[in-house]
Amino acid sequence: MMEGGTTIKLLDLPGQQVSEWLRSFDTVLSDGDGTIWQDDTEIEGAAAVLNALQNHHGKRVYIITNNGLKTRSELFGRAQHLGFQVPNDQHIISPTATIVEHLKQLPDFDSSKHKVYVVGNAAIGRELRENGIESYGAGVEEPLAKGDKWQDFAMRELTKPEAADNVGAVVVGWDEHFSYCKMARACHILCRNENSAFLVTNRDAVHKYPNFCIPGTGAFVAGIEACAGREALEMGKPNPVVLEPLIQSGALRPQRTLMIGDCPKMDIAFARNCGMQSLLVGTGSFPLDILQQNSHLPQPDFYLPKLGDLLQFL
Ligand SMILES: [Mg+2]
Repeated sequence: MMEGGTTIKLLDLPGQQVSEWLRSFDTVLSDGDGTIWQDDTEIEGAAAVLNALQNHHGKRVYIITNNGLKTRSELFGRAQHLGFQVPNDQHIISPTATIVEHLKQLPDFDSSKHKVYVVGNAAIGRELRENGIESYGAGVEEPLAKGDKWQDFAMRELTKPEAADNVGAVVVGWDEHFSYCKMARACHILCRNENSAFLVTNRDAVHKYPNFCIPGTGAFVAGIEACAGREALEMGKPNPVVLEPLIQSGALRPQRTLMIGDCPKMDIAFARNCGMQSLLVGTGSFPLDILQQNSHLPQPDFYLPKLGDLLQFL
């Protein structure tokens, strides 16, 4: 739908053309934060638009987020609470759920034998447990004991066979308790056990931008990659692997899918990587005029100041 690389402002189009455009896709993927909600608050009009697309226009609607701080069922609960009528939790695509799906289809991973080491928050551990996969490490963990030197820690923990044996994967997510010890355990597993998978929820370099500029998951991942000499596989946007289960099952055809989001590097790049149309909304970190001044960033096919603006056409 991109015409000469120019982003089309939907509010500038006559209603008839918007109706034609609405008929050009049958599946809608929408980002979460900055697009339809901000943490636990709906962005005004977003639920009404997604519900109308689903209930009145027959679109299949999925919410696709890089939020690895909640499980799929917790995100579904938030969606319901905020008035989004997605039919079930399978319509939530989240990194924690993608990690589970990916591990289950890995030939080298056996959930009856392998456990997962998590450098990340407790939600990753909950999602794995709910799906019958044992994990350890998520959440709070004691750093070096008082008086400990790194040699003491390494001798105490990393010389044991169980420090790397039977660990089928290292999963990294956002972790406010990130520490040298966690990084050391992760690197030890990845170096000692080359069959272990190395998965990350996302590579967002900065957390909670633009309100803060503090380390995001990508910062932790980069440190572990540098030491382990291995590249992590991203289980969030913009990696197209996220959509493989839906594409393989025939539930989603990229050429008939619209991706809605607020972040060019994640959402618009994801749409482009998957061959989908893209709609940028201006409720996140990137107003269109700023984006257009940064031509190296992926430019969207369509633009709306906020998703709720689409309601007048539905
Ligand atoms: Mg967003």
